[in-house]
Amino acid sequence: MKYSGNYFVNTIGCQMNVYDSEKLASILSSNGFEKTTDYNDADIIVCNTCSIRHKAEEKAFSFLGRFAKAKKKKPNLITVMAGCVAQQEGKKAFDRLPHLDIVLGTQAFSRFGQHLEALKSGENRIVDTNDSPMIYETLPDTECFNENNISRYVTIMQGCENFCTYCVVPYVRGAERSRSPEKIMEEISLLAKSGVKEVTLLGQNVNSYGQREGEISFPQLLKRINEIDDIQRIRFATSHPKDLSMDLIYAIRDLEKVCNHLHLPVQSGSNNVLKKMNRGYTRELYIERIAALKEQCPGIGLSTDMIVGFPSETTEDFQETVKLLHEVEFDSIFAFTYSDRSSAPAAKFPNQIDESEKKDRLNELLKIQETITEKKNQILVGKLLKILVEGKSNKLRDGFKDLNGTLKQMTGRSESNKIVHFPSEHANIGDILEIEIKNAYPHSLWGYPVGDETVKNEK
Ligand code: SAM
Ligand code: SF4
Repeated sequence: MKYSGNYFVNTIGCQMNVYDSEKLASILSSNGFEKTTDYNDADIIVCNTCSIRHKAEEKAFSFLGRFAKAKKKKPNLITVMAGCVAQQEGKKAFDRLPHLDIVLGTQAFSRFGQHLEALKSGENRIVDTNDSPMIYETLPDTECFNENNISRYVTIMQGCENFCTYCVVPYVRGAERSRSPEKIMEEISLLAKSGVKEVTLLGQNVNSYGQREGEISFPQLLKRINEIDDIQRIRFATSHPKDLSMDLIYAIRDLEKVCNHLHLPVQSGSNNVLKKMNRGYTRELYIERIAALKEQCPGIGLSTDMIVGFPSETTEDFQETVKLLHEVEFDSIFAFTYSDRSSAPAAKFPNQIDESEKKDRLNELLKIQETITEKKNQILVGKLLKILVEGKSNKLRDGFKDLNGTLKQMTGRSESNKIVHFPSEHANIGDILEIEIKNAYPHSLWGYPVGDETVKNEK
C-alpha cells in the first residue's frame, strides 16, 4: 500500500550527495509522496548527510534534531537520516535523535522502499547499514526537472580504496565500484532528451574508472559521451593526481565537449605532509602533471582542494603549500582546516595542530588565493569566452542600468568554470553565447554578448 503526503529532502555535502538525493526523491515519489519545498508541510523528512568534516556531521544532527518537537504535534511525521553519517553512526544515531524512524546507510538506498513498507506495518527504529554488491541503478525522474535543469550530475562510480589517512570516505562509502558504460550512456541520453546540456561525471577518483571491472577506461568513456547528441558540455570530478594519465590530458585537449577545466586536489605542497596523508605523489610529480596540462591544454582552468593544519604540519610545511599556490596559480581553491575523523588513522597521529593556528593558516591561504584569482581573471579582460547560460543573476551588478526596460542580467559559466554575468534581452537558459569580457572581479567576470546590438546602450 502506498503512502500519501509530502516529502522534503535536505542535502548536506558534496555533488555526489546532490545526485543521491535525486535518487531518494524518486524513490519517495514512487511510494506515493509529493515534493514540497517547505519542511513544515512535509509528512516525511529525509536528511542526506555528510561526514567528511565534523561541522557537516553536526549540521545533520542539528537539522534532524529540530523535528523532535514537531513529531509530538504530528505523530505520523517520518524522519530519516540517510547517507554518510547514517552509515557511520548506525543505531547510535538514536542516542542523539530518539525520534528518528529510519537510519539509511550509503548502500541501503535500494531497500528504502521496503523500509517504508515495514514502517507502515508497525516496525520502528529501522537501521540499514548493510553493503550492496551492486550500485543501485534507477533512471532519473525527469518529471521533477524544473526549467533551470540544463546541468546535471551523473555518478559513474562509488566508494574509494585510496585510504588517505585523514579521510572517512573509504569507511562510509565502501569499496570502489564503477557503473557499466551502458548504464551511464542510457542515463545521459535520457537527460539529453529532457533538455540537459551539461553533465558532470562524479567519482572519488574518476581516473580509475572501470579498472576493477575490466571496463573501458575513463578517457574512452569520455569519448563515448562526447558522441551523445544534444549534450554540449562534459565536466568531471574528482581526478586523483597520482592516476592522472596523458590519455586523460589528451581527451581534455581533443574532445570538443569536454571542458577545458580540471579539478585536481593537491591537499598540501609539502612532501612530508603528502607522505603522512598517504596521497601517493610528491609535489614534484604534481607540478609536472600541471605543466603537462598547461602545455597540452592552453588556457585550462585549474582548481584544487587543500587541507591546512594536518597533524604535525610545521610552518615550513605550510610555507611549501603557499609556494605551490604561487607556482601553479590555480583559478580557484577549496581550502579546509583539518578535521579529526575518528575512523580515519590521522585522528591518532601525534602533534595535532591548535584550532586557532589552523584558522590562521586557512585565512592566509585564502587571502593569497584571492589575489591570484583576481590576477587570473584580469588576464581575461578583452577576451572572448563561450559561456553556457545558467539563469538570471540573483545579485545585480552595481550600476546595472536597463535603459529600455527589457534587459535582464544573466549568468553563465565559461568552459574554464568562470562565472560570467552579462546583460541581455534575448539570452535563454541553455544557450551557448560568446561574451566579450569587460571587467574582472575576485569571484566573477562581466561582459557583453558579442553581436547583441540591444545591449549597446547599456555600456
Ligand atoms: N576524492 C577526492 C580526492 O581525493 O581529491 C576528495 C573527496 S573529499 C569528499 C573532498 C575534500 O574534502 C578533499 O579533497 C579534502 O580536501 C577534504 N577533506 C577530506 N577529509 C577531510 C578532513 N578530515 N578534514 C578536512 N578536510 C577534509
Ligand atoms: Fe578520501 Fe583520498 Fe578517497 Fe579522495 S582519494 S575520497 S581524499 S580517501
